[in-house]
Amino acid sequence: MAYKCPRCGEPVQRGHSRGAQMAGGLVGALFYAAFGSFQCEGCGKIPGNEFPAEDRSKMRVGSLMLVGGAIVLFAAVVGVLIAINS
Ligand SMILES: [Zn+2]
Repeated sequence: MAYKCPRCGEPVQRGHSRGAQMAGGLVGALFYAAFGSFQCEGCGKIPGNEFPAEDRSKMRVGSLMLVGGAIVLFAAVVGVLIAINS
């Protein structure tokens, strides 16, 4: 999922944080990706409100999908742990 930087037109990436990844593993990284800001190579962090409305609604859907994925992953991990412990 690529969005264009509203300042320079280059593609931006969802931000990621090593700290969130260490704290919450893959699930934490997914949550951070869902709620964190976007990163442009040239301009740095781009707050969501600088993007056009059309992109922002797509980002909301993308974020919901990331959160949904994180929840499914979490449930799967818990299920595996329960299966191992029983
Ligand atoms: Zn830029």
